[in-house]
Amino acid sequence: MRQVDVAVIGGGIVGLATAWRLSERFPGESIAVFEKEKEVGFHQTGRNSGVLHTGIYYRPGSLKAQNCRSGKQAMETFCREQGIPFEICGKVIVATEERELPALEEIERRGKANQVACRRIDTQTLKELEPHARGIAALHVPEAGIIDFRQVAKKLAELLQSQGHSIVTERRVVRVTERSDGVELETRRDRWQARWAVNCGGLYCDRIARMAGLRPAVRIIPFRGEYYELKREAQQLCRNLIYPVPDPRFPFLGVHFTRMIHGGVECGPNAVLAWAREGYRKTQVNLRELAQTLAYPGFWRLSLRYWRTGLGEYVRSFSKRAFVRALRKLVPDVTRQGLRPGRAGVRAQAVTRDGALADDFLLDESERMIHVLNAPSPAATSALNIGRLIVDRLAEKRHL
Ligand SMILES: Cc1cc2nc3c(=O)[nH]c(=O)nc-3n(C[C@H](O)[C@H](O)[C@H](O)COP(=O)(O)OP(=O)(O)OC[C@H]3O[C@@H](n4cnc5c(N)ncnc54)[C@H](O)[C@@H]3O)c2cc1C
Repeated sequence: MRQVDVAVIGGGIVGLATAWRLSERFPGESIAVFEKEKEVGFHQTGRNSGVLHTGIYYRPGSLKAQNCRSGKQAMETFCREQGIPFEICGKVIVATEERELPALEEIERRGKANQVACRRIDTQTLKELEPHARGIAALHVPEAGIIDFRQVAKKLAELLQSQGHSIVTERRVVRVTERSDGVELETRRDRWQARWAVNCGGLYCDRIARMAGLRPAVRIIPFRGEYYELKREAQQLCRNLIYPVPDPRFPFLGVHFTRMIHGGVECGPNAVLAWAREGYRKTQVNLRELAQTLAYPGFWRLSLRYWRTGLGEYVRSFSKRAFVRALRKLVPDVTRQGLRPGRAGVRAQAVTRDGALADDFLLDESERMIHVLNAPSPAATSALNIGRLIVDRLAEKRHL
């Protein structure tokens, strides 16, 4: 059996950032990151909008608010030091109807409370910033940026390896046994003994927690987000980032326009139930995982409460016309011909048994483990801070 001081399950940006912070705090200790895929950053980390969020949306005092702005600053410093490209291009949040104005005001209030630079702009200034966007009021958030989070994950893995730590890819952890003196991990190929372990399993974090004997208060429900891309001739319709005013009950809904760091503009994502936790295509089904979702009371309570919203998302999934209609609210010149289907990502959304979406980042602990049970957007932006938070909790456990 191989020995290691700390094992991290999951080679996404949260797991790797945690390993990186561990290496800073406990320089003499050995760390192993277990990833089931051939490469790191393959799932949520490599399939997102690539936006460096500012922290404007989040309830002051929440973990998201506390970790987004400073996490973004830490991410920018890291990228500058490591030569990873990112760009602070700014974004506009655009209200297109009167009824969105109170929510826009609330975002501005939260932004100010979270010390995010933002200002209300008139339609003329909106036109100067984004000539093709239309709205009745808008907020300009100059600090928002774009980045490739998979590139960050790869760099973190490379740096950890160069320090002698292990990034064990193609190793799915299939069994976790926690004892009072450590944690035993079994993969399909080998067994490892760690003094401490951190679960950053993303779409499988709840399953890993259960494997380790925890009874988590939430279940991961996978929501696929589908994107379109603007064809080259339509790319002038968006200069940087154009966002709608989100429904406060569903902060992750609302299709937006995102210029990407490597070129091109994406539009989306929507949010529909994925029939497999890693179901990136509409036709991808994992019967066991689907049955588990359907057997979870929290899923039904959520669906019954918000069936109308869910239906709208499904319509946009199957009808390009409906998707374009949603996009045209923000940018009326978008046409069906100007769009081609793009990538898809799946969000790991934690849902409680009574059907509530866990809004904030969520950590849980057992004697020798820390479990990250909800790390939705902006967790990629905030990853270096979430990593620090986890290491602080681990240090407390160790009375250091
Ligand atoms: C559509 C979409 C858009 C988003 N847009 C943004 C954005 O613009 N900005 C932002 O900040 N955030 C955004 N997010 C959120 C962000 O992508 C996630 O918060 C972040 O990537 C979570 O990282 P993670 O490491 O927790 O998860 P993941 O990247 O999913 O990593 C978890 C890893 O664990 C591995 N794993 C699972 N089970 C096992 C096992 N048993 N053994 C070994 N390995 C295992 C998986 O293979 C995976 O690589 C978006 C997310 C989505 C889906």
